[in-house]
Amino acid sequence: MDVRALLRNGIRQFRDYPQLWFTIAVAVSIVASFAFMSSKFLSIARDAQDQLTSVRIGALQDAFSPLAAELWDQPDVLRSYMQRMQTLNETIVDFDIVGENASGWAVLLSSVPAHEGATVFRQDLLLNLARADTQHSFTVENSQNGTRYFYTARAVVSRAGVLDGIVLTRQTLSAADQQISSSMQSAMVMLVVILLFLLMLFFRHARIIDYTVLYRKLHDVDALKDEFIAMASHELRAPLTAIRGYAEMLKDATVDTPTRALSIERIDISAQQLDALIGDMLDVSRIEQGRMKMEPVDVDTSAALSELSDIWEMRAKQKGLTLTRELTAGLSITVDPNRFRQVVINLLSNSIKYTNQGGITVHTSVQEKAFVLRVSDTGIGMTEAERGQLFGKFYRAAGSDVRKESGTGLGLWITKQLIERMGGTISVESIKGVGSHFIVTFPLSVAAQKNG
Ligand code: ADP
Repeated sequence: MDVRALLRNGIRQFRDYPQLWFTIAVAVSIVASFAFMSSKFLSIARDAQDQLTSVRIGALQDAFSPLAAELWDQPDVLRSYMQRMQTLNETIVDFDIVGENASGWAVLLSSVPAHEGATVFRQDLLLNLARADTQHSFTVENSQNGTRYFYTARAVVSRAGVLDGIVLTRQTLSAADQQISSSMQSAMVMLVVILLFLLMLFFRHARIIDYTVLYRKLHDVDALKDEFIAMASHELRAPLTAIRGYAEMLKDATVDTPTRALSIERIDISAQQLDALIGDMLDVSRIEQGRMKMEPVDVDTSAALSELSDIWEMRAKQKGLTLTRELTAGLSITVDPNRFRQVVINLLSNSIKYTNQGGITVHTSVQEKAFVLRVSDTGIGMTEAERGQLFGKFYRAAGSDVRKESGTGLGLWITKQLIERMGGTISVESIKGVGSHFIVTFPLSVAAQKNG
């Protein structure tokens, strides 16, 4: 699928349906506030948990410190106490009493005897604090390989007031952190559920938008129907009034022969107008219901266009216009001949209708292996905005130069449909007040290509 078209369509949807912005804003704020609240709550929970752990270990050390001073002379008893306390507090990873010697801090006594004598690294600040303030315990947080630890230190002071050593514990916070991360995962699952609900909401919203589009379409169709009734009654009334008027005149036996002939001719022209109008309406319904039958055959464009321009040259002359032919011989295309005729007649009649001076040129050529027909005029031309709507059903430019001519706004719509159904294209180049070029292209017929 064309990404740019998709993007354009998306932008259009947003422009046309501002309520989409509202839904998106609601969805984004729900998701964002849920994510914000979850992370806020979890961080509060983590802080509270940390504080609790820190208070607990502080209390434990406060209780242990005088005991350690008491049992300082019985290291084995003290060690077994330390081992028991560690067993009771699963989060304690290391339970040591450290002291300072010439080379720094070293383990004096440990729940794990093998640790005794080992140097203590990187805890100088904490240990110095505990040494400076012997009445309190101090805790610092440290991370190692993604696991958080609390290091807590508390001085052991003998009755005589001498610093025997410093209790140093290392506590892992992984259990608490795991709990937090599993809560985080639950919050994520909740977030996904919320997102799913929001998506459902979106789909519902999209359905409502579809209904809005449908409503607008129905509204447009209704307006089109009103326009059609107005146009049809107006376009039917004018020739009917003429027919009735001239018929009335013919009833009068005293009318002279030339007036009688003129009346009959006017009646004939009006009848032709009615016929063309009804023909257009039937074509519209055939095209819309897919009943337009095409019987394509190879058509020699030069012959077909010469014949048509002979007829239309007369009409151009009647309006004081010239009709010039610049036809390339031997170009053949595969189209339904009647429908091709209809296309050319529509373009020629429009050119004559919307040109007041100068003339019309019918030009054919081959460009990029395609047959190109160019019907140019020196007529009223059109603005860029008018060009954009030209091939729309019932479209007629609003200017008085257009509205003074009779017309239904169906001709170019039918023309475009017919051309496209026969595999061709139509485009227009025009300048207001200067003139218009209608450019029709068809693939050259296979036989013609072979011969070429
Ligand atoms: P109609 O001629 O019955 O109004 P068409 O579908 O044939 O309907 O043309 C639609 C509109 O396009 C016209 O009303 C007119 O505004 C504009 N138009 C068509 N052909 C020309 C032309 N050759 N020059 C200027 N405007 C044109």
